[in-house]
Amino acid sequence: MKQNFAELSNGYLESIQKGIKTVQNFKGNVSAGKGTREEQLNRLTEEIRTADAIVIGGGAGLSTSAGLTYSGERFDRYFGDFAAKFGIQDMYSGGFYPFPDEETRWAWWSRHIYVNRYVYPPVPVYQKLLNMVQDKDYFVITTNVDHQFLKAGFDKERLFYTQGDYGLWQCSKPCHRRTYDNKGKVVKMLLAQGFVIGENSELIVPVKDNGATDFSMLSMRIPSGLIPYCPVCGEPMSMNLRADDTFVEDEGWKKASAAYAEFLRSHKDKHVLYLELGVGANTPVIIKYPFWHETYHNNKAVYACLNYGEAFCPAEIEDRSICIDGDIAGIFGW
Ligand SMILES: [Zn+2]
Repeated sequence: MKQNFAELSNGYLESIQKGIKTVQNFKGNVSAGKGTREEQLNRLTEEIRTADAIVIGGGAGLSTSAGLTYSGERFDRYFGDFAAKFGIQDMYSGGFYPFPDEETRWAWWSRHIYVNRYVYPPVPVYQKLLNMVQDKDYFVITTNVDHQFLKAGFDKERLFYTQGDYGLWQCSKPCHRRTYDNKGKVVKMLLAQGFVIGENSELIVPVKDNGATDFSMLSMRIPSGLIPYCPVCGEPMSMNLRADDTFVEDEGWKKASAAYAEFLRSHKDKHVLYLELGVGANTPVIIKYPFWHETYHNNKAVYACLNYGEAFCPAEIEDRSICIDGDIAGIFGW
């Protein structure tokens, strides 16, 4: 049956609005959950086993746990030249840097895209998570744009990437609402800078005797002919990331948004575990508040917050919450 996308429910906005409304009525008291860490871990194991459905909310902490870190050794290995020349401190801030020209900007972005989207993560956190839920009725909502859920084998029909995908480009205007796979072009940009792609998709850098990257062998610019332009209007392409109101919500996004809304609706009276993994407290409206809302309004629902340093719940749902502080892989013993 042909679907009219204009008629699909926007689960993203709907869940955000409901979440904010519910949180406005909370008194603002927070709790670290009831019982010892061990008791809470046991309850979590039991909930995962017995819940009718599990809604996973994946945040940045999940990819950090998988070893996809944005600073330190990984940053030094692939971006040491950008650090030296522009003073950029980590991958996150580099995404906002005003580079002097498009050739340099795409040299940066091709590295950033590849090492976060196309390489396999050092720790198989996403695979372990899939093993844990694959026989359950599950759905995933995530703010991560590295697409690691899909790469690990999660069912595409049960995934909602709210903030875009490093693997997609769009028109920067945007003159039309379509997205384009970028892998082939990104690889060309990397080869032109002097990188090598390994057999296992890894990004190989030239190294000095001491093992550090030899940046004298790498270029910080791509050839002008590789700069991507919109095939329709000729304006530069941009990343399909929700940075401002030019973000293109393509047909895939709209379907996923509607599927998320439908999943929440059809499970609103069931024994659901809202499993929040590594979602920071500074952007709570997309996952955290909607999870609190769903838990608050369904007395069979349970909320679990697993987070390094920020594991808490509102006092209003304390009795049905599990809060565990720590690295995700560490908490599950992976
Ligand atoms: Zn265009």
